[in-house]
Amino acid sequence: MLPIQESHPLLQAPAKVFITTHHKPDGDAIGSMLGLYHYLTAKGHSVTAVSPSEVPDFLRWMPGTDKLLNYEQQGDLADKLLKQSDVVFCLDFNDFSRTKHIEQPLADATQPKILIDHHLFPKDVWDYGMSMPDKSSTCEMVYDYINLCGDNTMINSDIGKCLYTGVMTDTGSFKFPATTASVHLMVADLLTRNIDHTTIHQAVYDSWSESRMRFLGYVLIERMEIFHKYNAALIRLSRKDMNLFNVRNGDTEGLVNYPLSIAGIRFATLITERGDEVKMSFRSKGDFDVSKFARTYFEGGGHFNASGGRSKSSFDETILYFKKILSDIHPQ
Ligand code: 5GP
Ligand code: MN
Repeated sequence: MLPIQESHPLLQAPAKVFITTHHKPDGDAIGSMLGLYHYLTAKGHSVTAVSPSEVPDFLRWMPGTDKLLNYEQQGDLADKLLKQSDVVFCLDFNDFSRTKHIEQPLADATQPKILIDHHLFPKDVWDYGMSMPDKSSTCEMVYDYINLCGDNTMINSDIGKCLYTGVMTDTGSFKFPATTASVHLMVADLLTRNIDHTTIHQAVYDSWSESRMRFLGYVLIERMEIFHKYNAALIRLSRKDMNLFNVRNGDTEGLVNYPLSIAGIRFATLITERGDEVKMSFRSKGDFDVSKFARTYFEGGGHFNASGGRSKSSFDETILYFKKILSDIHPQ
């Protein structure tokens, strides 16, 4: 992969740009994609931004969500636009398979592909890019990219809102270790672009439905197990539980973090029964590497303190397997 600067000539003249991100997009995925969308559009390019799946409700207020294509509903159109594009940007993922249904079209695409991402161990499939696992968020990297292009003054309110959202969600509201001085400098700069951070926090975090709040209460009482011996916690969500509370896309966001607020708990896992697979989310505090844990046991990956994976076994078998691993490895 060549340094991203070497891709600049591809965007000298107006080009057709295709941008995508990972399946089940979060604040950083949508924020970075829309931030880059607004920037490249303002530069005169014709930009298509495609989300592999639906944008969760808590992000729908973001400027430009109405312009996004949802690959699950508009796959044919997205495939056509991908084929017609001159350049492809991939944001916030490190392996085509993280886009789920866009994996094959991306692998088949012959256009130059540019990666902007902060996950560990990217696949060697991009022509140009920035892969920086120490960065707080892909939004921070899109901000760096715009600066690298010499276009800091083009960062307007729309771009600012999008980038602020991703850096806020990926840093746990500026609390995780990756929240460096440069993150705060970036945020200080964004706040001069006519954005209101309180409104953004409220739109993302204080927009729960009543049933989501009650679901959280139910889950913490009924579905959270604490293993003090291993400084660990497990939350299990069956399909039945989710149907009972009419759980919507995005309603389980952040659930995995709650056990980490218990003194002594440094490793939290969420096991979710999805239609075709069992999805796992892992979070840690301190020096337990959940990216390695996800890679070793659950075909996954991610970051040192936040990762995910999956299991092909049944929901109940996966829970038993997880507990067995816990007692085998004794995380501390
Ligand atoms: P989440 O638990 O929020 O789904 O994901 C946490 C982090 O792990 C995210 O940065 C995400 O990109 C990464 N991640 C989640 N699931 C997978 C997976 O199945 N494979 C890989 N390689 N990374 C994942
Ligand atoms: Mn991210």
